[in-house]
Amino acid sequence: MPGKNLSRDEAQQRAGILSVDGYEVHLDVTSAPDASAATFRSLTTIRFRCAEVGAASFADLVAPAVRAVTLNGRALDPGAVFDGARVRLEDLAAENVLVVDADCAYSRTGEGLHRFVDPVDGETYLYTHFEPAEARRVFANFEQPDLKAPYVFTVTAPAAWDVYANSAAERVEEQAGDGAARTWHFLATRPISTYLTAVVAGPYHVERDHWSRELPDGSTLEIPLAATCRKSLARYFDAAEIFTVTKQGLDFFHEEFDYPYPFGKYDQCFVPEYNIGAMENPGCVTFREEYVFRSKVTEAAYEARANVILHEMAHMWFGDLVTMKWWDDLWLKESFADFMGHFAQQEATKYQASWVTFANQRKGWAYRQDQYPTTHPITADIRDVEDAKLNFDGITYAKGASVLKQLVAYAGRDAFFEGARRYFQQHAYGNTVLGDLLEVLAVTSGRGERAMADWSAAWLQTAGVNALTPQLTVDAEGRITEFAVLQDAAEDHPSLRPHRIAIGLYDREADGALLRTARVELDVTGARTVVEELAGRPRPALVLVNDDDLTYCKIRFDTHSLVTLRTALGEIREPLARALTWSACWNLTRDGLMPARDYVALVLRFAGQESDIGVLQSLHSQAKVAVESLADPAWRAEGGRLLAEGALHELRLAAPGSDHQLAWARFLASTARAEEELRLLEGLLAGSARIDGLEVDQDLRWSLWIALAAAGRATVEQLDAELKRDNTASGHQKAVQAMAARPTAEAKAAAWSAVVDSDQLPNAMVGAQTAGFAQAGQLELTAPYTARYFEQLERVWAERSIEIAMRFVGGFFPRLHTDEATLAATDGWLTGHPQAAPALRRLVLECRDELARALRAQAADRA
Ligand SMILES: [Zn+2]
Repeated sequence: MPGKNLSRDEAQQRAGILSVDGYEVHLDVTSAPDASAATFRSLTTIRFRCAEVGAASFADLVAPAVRAVTLNGRALDPGAVFDGARVRLEDLAAENVLVVDADCAYSRTGEGLHRFVDPVDGETYLYTHFEPAEARRVFANFEQPDLKAPYVFTVTAPAAWDVYANSAAERVEEQAGDGAARTWHFLATRPISTYLTAVVAGPYHVERDHWSRELPDGSTLEIPLAATCRKSLARYFDAAEIFTVTKQGLDFFHEEFDYPYPFGKYDQCFVPEYNIGAMENPGCVTFREEYVFRSKVTEAAYEARANVILHEMAHMWFGDLVTMKWWDDLWLKESFADFMGHFAQQEATKYQASWVTFANQRKGWAYRQDQYPTTHPITADIRDVEDAKLNFDGITYAKGASVLKQLVAYAGRDAFFEGARRYFQQHAYGNTVLGDLLEVLAVTSGRGERAMADWSAAWLQTAGVNALTPQLTVDAEGRITEFAVLQDAAEDHPSLRPHRIAIGLYDREADGALLRTARVELDVTGARTVVEELAGRPRPALVLVNDDDLTYCKIRFDTHSLVTLRTALGEIREPLARALTWSACWNLTRDGLMPARDYVALVLRFAGQESDIGVLQSLHSQAKVAVESLADPAWRAEGGRLLAEGALHELRLAAPGSDHQLAWARFLASTARAEEELRLLEGLLAGSARIDGLEVDQDLRWSLWIALAAAGRATVEQLDAELKRDNTASGHQKAVQAMAARPTAEAKAAAWSAVVDSDQLPNAMVGAQTAGFAQAGQLELTAPYTARYFEQLERVWAERSIEIAMRFVGGFFPRLHTDEATLAATDGWLTGHPQAAPALRRLVLECRDELARALRAQAADRA
């Protein structure tokens, strides 16, 4: 659609002449419960100024129909000024009033105003999600972060509903007549960006609480808290725990940021079919409702939810109060919130494994992304909003946060927070670029502008990850004669960087434990840094460079340490050091430097000893990838058998009722192949088999059904019966996944067709279909789809919303077909489509890179 992919140049030009005084947005969603109603009424008034009288510009609006457009009292012909994505504005005055009356579409893709009908009770629920540029699907606006303005929302909705928005409701008015609707008048917001506005409406269940704090001037800041979810989830809603973390976070950020929470109230809405984890809409944060746990989950899930709550809360200051000028500096807010979420979690809540999870899982995302050919510096070049959409990636979040962790080590914690405080004071309600943050940090850290510029150039303006390798020479008595740290970089991104690191030396105790016996902290700069202090010491059993996880790098080992790890990895007693070691071994495997079967052997030998539940769960998924993609295909069946046997063994050993027991049960379900294992799954479902302490609740039941369906041991009737038993949103998704997982040509064809031939499937169901479709044991069935996939790529990309298109590209890429033919097909498409949308090419290039990496790892495993 012309004009839909708003570019940075256009946004700059527009901000150069326009400024916005305010929006009044009236939405009428009384039609929402009527499934046949495709649209809702959207009436927007924008008051704005233009610095160049007579100039032309445009407003953004993606809508099926526009009824009327009025500019400064003149009626414009919608057919002439509206092209489906923009409203052309000509001959602007110094002060302007634009009124757009439109019919906007309810969304089923999680973008814009999403509509969901609960299968449990037939109730309809709405919520908005706009980042980066989807507010224009709901009201006419200037869709760019740097044209901030106050908003007055009014929403007319069915009378039985509640409505939430960024600000509190001033009054709720009964509609005249039959009283079937009420109109919610919300207070004007503070100046915020379009992508941060939000409306949530429906018969949501709500719980309320309250937080207050005395401010330095003696006044009291009162913040009403609300937490909502669908009515049918209310019995699972642990709002008290959510409020506890919320209050801990508010205390912490007020202490550290010294800037009172600016948005009046704090609602946290858990909403269905949400595309991401959560969104930091000021005063009205939206979360995926999978964070309302209806079955037993492990402590890792509670930790992850607390982390997200704190991440979004950090955004209230960094992102919402002070906002990036354009999406190039998306990282400014995301890296900060990601870092601060972990930091606050560690300092203010009971979740003390926060930095272990960060080191082991969050950074894994960054390392993966940073080795793609599409990687980019943390400060990215974002040409348009399609680029922006793809940049919510492992670089922007996880690498950015890792680098901020380095910055805190470099500038000092106090200087870092003092810099943040000044930044909020100087730029409140404004927009910034990277230089604005560096400027205050240069002052507060005392390092000066030059040093901050060097730091920024090394860490923010170059791409790629360095590897750090210890190099030891040892004399005949086993003493270190020289200890050096080697630094290298990928060919495409050759920058070596200054790293502040700790080196840990570990030795075996009498009881077998591997304990740290020495630690040195130093700066590593060039290709080789000699560590004088370690000369003369006896060679340790294990050397861990980047101990304590201060820097962002791939950790390598010397050969002696690798020998130690093979027999004693599980004996490292410090959870962070062990987690770092596990992720280093995983990186070695992905890089083809450790045979995949050796990594699997480490997991089989030591995962049973792993105390950190989050680390254990990532070991499970990594071991599965190692067998299915990275190992020699000739060994796959054997590797799969070993994983399932190991899972069953550990499941029987795990403490009854423990998180570990649940994790092993899920792992068994995902690996079971042998008759005895599958019979056990069937028995657990039927109640004829029991594992002491293991509750086979609804989510676990679905994991078992999906496993049995993939093995060809679940009939359509059985899956239907399970869906009747669990006729919920989640049940429907799982049933679709199980149906698609069945090993028949018909099941694969149905899953493919549901996504590719129709645009009616909602976002969550697209995900369920692709998750079920790809099964490691069914390569013959899915092989014919490789060619079809490449045939359909451009059409699907062009016809679907970007969210659905991204799910298609990633979900149906033949990632389990790790062979030369699939690589050749992928290269054939890339060569033949140089003009395809850059965002589409980027996704395919990344899938291609994973495939090529898997082939290299297979060769290493074979050797
Ligand atoms: Zn964020």
